[in-house]
Amino acid sequence: MQVGTGRSILNGIAIGKLKIYKKKDTVISAAEVADTAAEVARFEDARAKAIDQQTALYEKALAEAGEDIAEVFNIHAMMLDDDDFVDAIKEIINGQHKCAEYAVKTAGDNQAAVFAAMDDPYLQARSADVIDIAQAILDILQGVDNATLQGTEPSILVAEDLAPSETVRMDKSLLLGFITREGSSNSHTAILARSMNIPALIQCKVIQDDWDGKMAVVDGYNACVYVDPTPDLLKSLKKRQQEDQKKQALLQELKGKSNTTLDGKTINVFANIGGMSDVGAVQQNDADGVGLFRTEFVYLNCKDFPTEDYQFEAYKQVLESLAPRKVVVRTCDIGADKTVDYMKLDHEENPALGYRAIRICLTRKDFFKTQLRALLRASAYGNMSIMFPMITSLRELQDAKAVLDECRAELRAEGKKFDEKLEVGTMIETPAAVLIADELAEECDFFSIGTNDLTQYTCALDRQNAKLEPFFNPHHPAVLRAIKMTIDAGHRHGIWVGICGELGADTALTETFLRMGVDELSMNAKSVLPVRKIIRSIDLSKPSDK
Ligand code: PEP
Ligand code: MG
Repeated sequence: MQVGTGRSILNGIAIGKLKIYKKKDTVISAAEVADTAAEVARFEDARAKAIDQQTALYEKALAEAGEDIAEVFNIHAMMLDDDDFVDAIKEIINGQHKCAEYAVKTAGDNQAAVFAAMDDPYLQARSADVIDIAQAILDILQGVDNATLQGTEPSILVAEDLAPSETVRMDKSLLLGFITREGSSNSHTAILARSMNIPALIQCKVIQDDWDGKMAVVDGYNACVYVDPTPDLLKSLKKRQQEDQKKQALLQELKGKSNTTLDGKTINVFANIGGMSDVGAVQQNDADGVGLFRTEFVYLNCKDFPTEDYQFEAYKQVLESLAPRKVVVRTCDIGADKTVDYMKLDHEENPALGYRAIRICLTRKDFFKTQLRALLRASAYGNMSIMFPMITSLRELQDAKAVLDECRAELRAEGKKFDEKLEVGTMIETPAAVLIADELAEECDFFSIGTNDLTQYTCALDRQNAKLEPFFNPHHPAVLRAIKMTIDAGHRHGIWVGICGELGADTALTETFLRMGVDELSMNAKSVLPVRKIIRSIDLSKPSDK
């Protein structure tokens, strides 16, 4: 047995024979052409056919993976129409008298390199899309057809890399899983695989040609592939696969259904995200929106302070991708366990009780304003709410709102658009905030309870300290009472109250939270359908048996 490791893009198991998927090697010559007008016409003809192909792929992806995922092929069709891309190709043909193949390959590689050099992982991954569309034109120009490479038997494909268009073109009834040496978890190929529930391993560097035809298991839970697995291992992984399939089938039936109890109460079940790379999971798991966008991950992914424009693009992408779904954005909660060198934060004895989140934002006003301006500008592109973390006093909430108002006034004066009606909320994650929830509710539009910190601060238990795990009881009555007090206070003042900490996903508490009157639960995307299943089985008109 041989074990290869990589990055898993889906928690699942694929079992079957490996098939090496090798594209035909085509040589791109730098041949000179005399009749450049005829060469441009040949390119234009291939480009038009490539656009038609992308439209057909859109229809196929729409049927197999849904609207959100299929959209990439609309984007590809637009990229094929992009003036910069088309002009660059024509310039090479006309200016350098080179053949269309050389021009397409050169312009495609250049544009892909520009994307690959970008800081933002999402934009970096777009480099694969450029290579994909350039390859589509090249295949048409060279009369190459890769359609038969998949073979006729169900298999786990092994490739250097797979383009989104190749993945969509494949016969899914024969595609058990795939393993690639390259690839990124933000690529559309990865997003497609996740949405079509295909276990896949990327960045698996030990791929070998002699794997062809061998029996293997892709174990997405442990990010590895077992080639020629032992009979015992094969048996246990088959069992796990069957259990997964049963669970999956039951959960898939819940997609598109409402989060409504048997007696008719509906609440929001939202997902938590850290950035654009999590948006696929929100869609795949049918979350109604995002209840917590942890924006500090935007900062953690940068080597220096992210500029207003950089942040604007990052937030706008998320908002646009999820519109019209609501996205509740939490302002930067950096500090404690989440630090970046460029902020030069001092070492502290008690970081969880220290200089973090809103405390940093209120004392480094320019830093705060950069984010708030970026957020407000992005709010014009979707359905955004903003909330402030780690609030312990009315003064902090009022001060944060005053800075937000200052940013609004600046943007109005600059003629920049933003959502004037955007909701502003408070995270309730300290006992102090619970105890003054009535006052806070007067000053904001919603509460979102961060149960991770609320448990830490209520029980005086450092959430980072593994030694304290035996003492950690997230069902502690004090925490549950604090949650109930917060919901009651919010409702007394007519505002909605959600839970966005880990407890939101705890199905043992779903009924308790519904009986407390919670309006929204936000959680890791994978928990959305299991929580929906529980909600749909609860009858609040009957007394609780808990
Ligand atoms: C929480 O504290 O429950 C919360 C949602 O915020 P974080 O886990 O990011 O601190
Ligand atoms: Mg918190």
